[in-house]
Amino acid sequence: MTQVTEAAVMDALKRVKDPDRGQDVVALGMVQGMAIKGGHVHFTLEVEAERGPKLEPLRRAAEKAVEALPGVLSVTAVLTADKPARGGQGHRHGHAHGQGHQHGQGQPNKPLIPGVRTIVAVASGKGGVGKSTTAVNLALALKGKGLKVGILDADIYGPSLPRMMAISGKPETTDGKVLEPKEGYGVKTMSIGYLIAEDTPMIWRGPMVMSAIEQMLRDVNWGELDIMVVDLPPGTGDAQLTMAQRVPLSGAVIVSTPQDIALLDARKGLGMFRKVDVPVLGIVENMSYFLCPHCGERSDIFAHGGARREAARLGTEFLGEIPLDIAIRETSDQGFPIVISKPDHPQAKVYREIADRVWAKLTGEAPANRPAPRIVVS
Ligand code: ADP
Repeated sequence: MTQVTEAAVMDALKRVKDPDRGQDVVALGMVQGMAIKGGHVHFTLEVEAERGPKLEPLRRAAEKAVEALPGVLSVTAVLTADKPARGGQGHRHGHAHGQGHQHGQGQPNKPLIPGVRTIVAVASGKGGVGKSTTAVNLALALKGKGLKVGILDADIYGPSLPRMMAISGKPETTDGKVLEPKEGYGVKTMSIGYLIAEDTPMIWRGPMVMSAIEQMLRDVNWGELDIMVVDLPPGTGDAQLTMAQRVPLSGAVIVSTPQDIALLDARKGLGMFRKVDVPVLGIVENMSYFLCPHCGERSDIFAHGGARREAARLGTEFLGEIPLDIAIRETSDQGFPIVISKPDHPQAKVYREIADRVWAKLTGEAPANRPAPRIVVS
């Protein structure tokens, strides 16, 4: 068989142009860390952190160019953010997506996981509102309905699935290409937390995330699933928007606390999904009121009920309210979520009701495996 050489790979990469600068990636010195092993090629493309999310098409184009070489069995190109930002100021939020220009090949989205019937994202306007807790309990409640369920933890800022499901270690692979999901409570899981070390600096994570997400969708042996629950990173910035666009989502659930409703964060989330043409299935109000663990009395600390009103106003469904209840936090911290550890608990029942609504909405109107949406500029 033809031996793959570094020179041949570099030659192929000379045909790949950086969309912003017009020159090829080799001339720009972006190709680093080349490793070739028995037909398997690995290299990194160094980019500025800000440009990371929108350079996914460039990464794909680089992989494609090398894949076409004789003797190449697999190619992994990874974006890294070692380069300092150009033009000084490290502004965090670019506006590339708002302009609606998608550089590159015009083939960015295809159904990535053929055996997966529906994919639902759980999102929030900001961190710490209980998005992951909701995602995991929702997934386990769906499992309880007899469905085949997977969880994809894509929260780069704080992947909490390993802790919440008490799963550790790296996913295994039998053939060096496909990763086996790690199973917990009968649910197949994959987390960015299994793949990226916790102390990886944030500047790396942004650009890495798109390739990691793609890998977690494409290179994992998910098998047949009725539903995959995706725990998105919190927020409504470019990274989230890109992700919402690239994952072939059937729908989205927005988790919010009563205060965020007041601060409009949830509304931004709604706007984000509308922009990428993903149906918002509804809003969950978390930490809706406080349930005293001693006397059982309910206190509406924050002006509870805002989500229900807001959902109605915005024309989306109110999926349910979950109180601030210590049993939820304790069971999560123990790696034994409440839906599993205390199925008779009133809050476990609420998660099951939310799961019922989500599933009904998905199967009632959302076709399975919709192609991933394109960004529409509004
Ligand atoms: P996010 O994913 O939005 O950042 P998490 O799901 O990680 O938030 O939740 C943040 C913290 O709040 C965790 O310690 C979690 O156990 C706790 N928590 C989430 N929802 C509730 C709730 N309804 N009652 C009590 N604690 C909660």
